[in-house]
Amino acid sequence: MKIGGVIPLSLVDYLQRPAVVIFTSGCNLRCPFCHNRELVEGRESVDHKQVLAFLEKRAGKLGAVCISGGEPTVQEDLEEFICEIKSLGYRVKLDTNGSRPKFLKRLLAHLDYVALDIKSSPCRYRAATGGKLAFDTAAESAEIIKESGVAYELRTTAVPGLVAIEDLAFIARRLGPVQRYAVQMFRPAKTLNPALEKAETYPADWFAKAKKALEGQAKEVLLRGI
Ligand code: SF4
Repeated sequence: MKIGGVIPLSLVDYLQRPAVVIFTSGCNLRCPFCHNRELVEGRESVDHKQVLAFLEKRAGKLGAVCISGGEPTVQEDLEEFICEIKSLGYRVKLDTNGSRPKFLKRLLAHLDYVALDIKSSPCRYRAATGGKLAFDTAAESAEIIKESGVAYELRTTAVPGLVAIEDLAFIARRLGPVQRYAVQMFRPAKTLNPALEKAETYPADWFAKAKKALEGQAKEVLLRGI
């Protein structure tokens, strides 16, 4: 496992549960709005055995681990890593970009919660992923997660120019009904494409419209960061 960093305690990464967050190093996409350049470029810095030793020490005090990235599913030994964490008694959440649906299907047997990024609608998917992923692959991951019975959310970062209300309405029709959909405020800071650092963010009333566009197809709509 290549690990780029660890947050020992987070209250926002696993549905308000106290959780350890592990950031894996390396990603197969190049989303222009990404804030995690160091992780995307795979500059690993933490020994995974040290991370497991830390989790062993905290077992029983913290109940959950969130594995985020980078993109965790590019790590071929991710399944073994998740099983080691589960054997310590933790609940495990996975954050993924949905680019490896077959691998994801195998992982679901061990997971308690999955957050899947849906970057935009089909016509903007390549632009939103740096030319690396098509909507249909992420949609296949969404279907696999929905069929698995594992708790999940789909989530979209609202980047002006890459995500409009019409894109969310399309996603809702194409992937709904879903348990939970989160729309996240884009923060224009330290982005992979520096041009986006000058981008405007959407105002609060845009998020109200986003909620409306998703409500018919999502049991719960969360607005994050506004
Ligand atoms: S935002 Fe895109 S490039 Fe950045 S870590 Fe996530 S999937 Fe990779």
